[in-house]
Order: sequence, then structure tokens, then C-alpha cells
Amino acid sequence: MGCLFCNIISGKTPSTKVFENDKVYAFKDINPQAPFHVLVVHKDHIKNIDELNEKNSCIMSDIFLAIHTIAQQEKLDKGYRVIINNGTAAGQVIWHLHVHILAGKDDLGPMLVQ
Ligand code: AMP
Ligand code: ZN
Repeated sequence: MGCLFCNIISGKTPSTKVFENDKVYAFKDINPQAPFHVLVVHKDHIKNIDELNEKNSCIMSDIFLAIHTIAQQEKLDKGYRVIINNGTAAGQVIWHLHVHILAGKDDLGPMLVQ
């Protein structure tokens, strides 16, 4: 059992790495919703935004600085969408905070299916 994304970070579960530094790991989503679909996770486990506090909130800047680097590295010049599914109503199924990066299309479509 345990956390799937912690297992991916440790290498116990295989993944296709896109980016890594000492704090953040990014890998291809196994079920891509766009030509480019990458998940960005912090190496410190928190379940989602609801567990952020003043002590651990640097998790978010670490993640978003990594996204900035990934966008340059992967030449996402036309733009990209970042999504956090936070909680059950939003469709969160993995309880380790993660940001989706979606790109690779001229138009990523509406933010939500109407
Ligand atoms: P969320 O609905 O925001 O919790 O998203 C979880 C995401 O994790 C989904 O887009 C899944 O396709 C993705 N996912 C689940 N298992 C794996 C895995 N082993 N490797 C890569 N992505 C995964
Ligand atoms: Zn975890």
C-alpha cells in the first residue's frame, strides 16, 4: 500500500521522468488527456492544498518554479494549462498533492466541460 506518488518519487514504481531536482519530481501521466500531460509533485508528501500552512507553503513555490523550468525545457511556447484537482468533488484520486501540466494543442478547449 502506501502512497503511489511517493513510490514513484523513490523509484519503487516506474515512471517516465521529465524533470527532477532536490525538491520536485515530474513525470508523464499514464493516461494523458492532451499530447503533453505531465504531473508535478513535491518530494514532501502532503495530501492536497487543504494541508498547506505557513510552515510548508514553500511546497507550492518549489512546484511552480519547477513548472516554469519544465515549460522552457519542453518548449511549451504556445502556452499550457495547470490544474490541481483538490478533493473528491474535483476528481482528486491520488492523495499526494500534484499539479497537472497540459499542453501540445493550439487550443486546449474550455476550462470545464459544459
Ligand atoms: P487526480 O485525478 O488529479 O488525482 O489525478 C491523478 C492522475 O494520476 C491521473 O491523471 C492518472 O492518470 C495519473 N496516474 C495514476 N497512476 C499513475 C502512474 N502510475 N503513473 C503516472 N500517472 C498516473
Ligand atoms: Zn505521497
